[in-house]
Order: sequence, then C-alpha cells, then structure tokens
Amino acid sequence: MAITPHTIDQSTLPPELARYHRQMLLPGFGIEGQKKLMSSTALVVGCGALGTVIVNMLARAGVGHIVVVDRDFIEMTNLQRQILFDEQDVKDAIPKAEAAKRKIAQINSQVKVTAIVDDVNHTNIEKLAGIGNDAYGKVDIIVDGVDNFETRYIANDCAVKHGIPYVYGGSVGTVGAAYAILPHTAPLGTGETVWEKAGLATPCLRCIYEQAPPPGVNPTCDTAGVIGPAVSIVSNYQVAEALKILTGNLDRLSRTMLSFDLWENTFRQLKVQKAYDVAECVCCKGRQFEFLDGMFGSSTTTLCGRNAVQITPKAGEKAQMNFDEIATRLRGMGTVTANKFMLRADIVDQGNPYELTVFSDGRAIVRGTKEANVARSVYAKYIGG
Ligand SMILES: [Zn+2]
Repeated sequence: MAITPHTIDQSTLPPELARYHRQMLLPGFGIEGQKKLMSSTALVVGCGALGTVIVNMLARAGVGHIVVVDRDFIEMTNLQRQILFDEQDVKDAIPKAEAAKRKIAQINSQVKVTAIVDDVNHTNIEKLAGIGNDAYGKVDIIVDGVDNFETRYIANDCAVKHGIPYVYGGSVGTVGAAYAILPHTAPLGTGETVWEKAGLATPCLRCIYEQAPPPGVNPTCDTAGVIGPAVSIVSNYQVAEALKILTGNLDRLSRTMLSFDLWENTFRQLKVQKAYDVAECVCCKGRQFEFLDGMFGSSTTTLCGRNAVQITPKAGEKAQMNFDEIATRLRGMGTVTANKFMLRADIVDQGNPYELTVFSDGRAIVRGTKEANVARSVYAKYIGG
C-alpha cells in the first residue's frame, strides 16, 4: 500500500506538539491523532519486562495520562530486560511503579503518570480502570504487562464489562504472544461502542483461552528464563496496537494474534477472529464476570500466628503438579526437596527468604509473609498460574 505522509511544517507547531512531529507525519496520525493521544488515559497493569517498555513507549508517544500499577521492587536480575530501571533503583529499593514515574518525568514531562504500588486483583481492577474512581475517569485502554493468567482474566473481565480495549501480551523464554482485543459489550453485535458499530469487535481473551493453564504446568520467567528481545518484541507490538486504538485507527489493528519463538525462528499470525463465533464464551457472550466476581481465581488465607499464607487454586484450575519438573526448574534458586505428596523450596525473592510448600492438588503455603499479595506473587513467579 502506498504511504502518503501528512504534510506538517514542524516550525509552525507549538512546542507541546512539535516533539511529536515524526509520528504525526504518519498516515492516519496527524495532529488530530496526536491530540487524541494527549487526551487519552492508559492503564498499564504490571511494570516488569513488558510494562517498562509499554510505559516508556506510550510516554514518549505522548499519551496524556498513564496509570501504572505494580507491587514489586526492582532487583538486579530485572535489569537484563526491564528497560526503565538501573542499578541506582536497585540500591534505592524503589518500587517499580514509582521508579517508572520518576523516569517518565525525565523522558516526557508533558505526560502525567499515576503510580500505584499494589497488587492487581478482582477487588481493585475496576477502580484502577477509572470506574467509580474520583481521581480519574474510565481509562481508554488497558495494556497487559503481567506475568500470570489469573490477572489477565481479571483485566479481560473488566475490559469486557465496561467496554475498554485491552491489549494482551505475554512472553517467557524465547517465545511471545500478543493480541489487541476490542470487546463485545453486548452479545450479537448490538453494542454501542465505536468498534461494535463499525463491526470491528474481536474475541475476548476467554474466547481464545477458555481456561488458564493449570498452575505448575507453564514455565515462568523466574524459572525458565527469558531474553530481553522476546519481551521487547511483544511489548512494542502491544504499543503499536495501542497507538492505533488511541488514535482511532481501529481498522488498522492486526486482528490476528502474534505468536513467535526467537530460538526456533518462527513468526506466526494466528487467525483467532472466529473464536467469538465458535466459543460459548461465558464472559463476552454470557456476561458472567467470574474472575471479576472473585468466583474463579485462587483464594488466599493468612495462617494465624505462622507468618504464612495458604493459596488454594479454585475449580477450573485443576492442578497437575509434576514435582520432578518443578523441582528441576527451582534447583539453582535454593534448596528443593520433594516426595510424592509435596514439594518444598527455599527461595529468596526481592531479598526476602520464603519457604514454599506445594501440595499435589496445587495448594501451597508460602511462609515468610502474612500478606496475601506477596504470597500470590511468589506463587505466580515460581510455580506459575
Ligand atoms: Zn469472550
């Protein structure tokens, strides 16, 4: 397709627009597109490998308000791929969300960043997305920078319920996948969103993956490793799709799921569009928001007087714990012992020691914290889910 750039004389632009001159030249972008970006709010869930690239690029592109949520602190092993952070952040023990805010203030002071140091879960996602929030209104997009499917389903539920575009992305090892979702807000195409009126609504995450892989099956970055380029490709692709959405270029979205393996040299565009028609999706067709309602995720119980939290995966996550496999992955992180009933591992995460005990049904006890969020994070990182 021939590309016809906009003709924009940089010298005539006010300073707040001039810095975006190069992207405004793009067809479909222009000054109008830039102004849309500048008046947009994006929620970036998670500020690790994917999230740092996403926040960085959205801020450089001039998205007016970025809400970034992450509960972790920065560790030295993050620096290999989490591009907004440096050694000083590790020394200063700054939370990721706060460090991202400080960096963005230096990169683009025109952008407002709301940094929230918290776990993202079913009780707070709607408020984070600006629903019933006094601090800001409904966000224009949710971009996924998380490391586990449970949080993704919570974000997907929120996006479908409230009609917010959601850009999924995930990467581990040398593989990655990303997909931009324009949710159906009403079944059978009777919705009121711009994209439904234009016939551009897509399957939601649960149309494509009805259930998350059970805990303990999928590798995580903390156990299987990850290379920076894999997360960088995924997250930059997510940003490209986000920019199309925020500038109103909905017809430019890929509408396929990017899936690649850098070690196998495979790049694919998966045709997932039919998933909406085929799947009896409880979320976007059935309008049941099981993850948002807290019915379907894992539950946690703080164990009295034991400085420990129990995590119980719920129905739908029927665990198939393979202790040999998990033990192999966790060796090198600390002492690991296993028998056929349980696996025990001593792990240091964010400088804190934890004792992780996993039972064959997927239930786990994380010793070393009384905070459910911390325990959930340790579980997600080292067992997966
Ligand atoms: Zn769906």
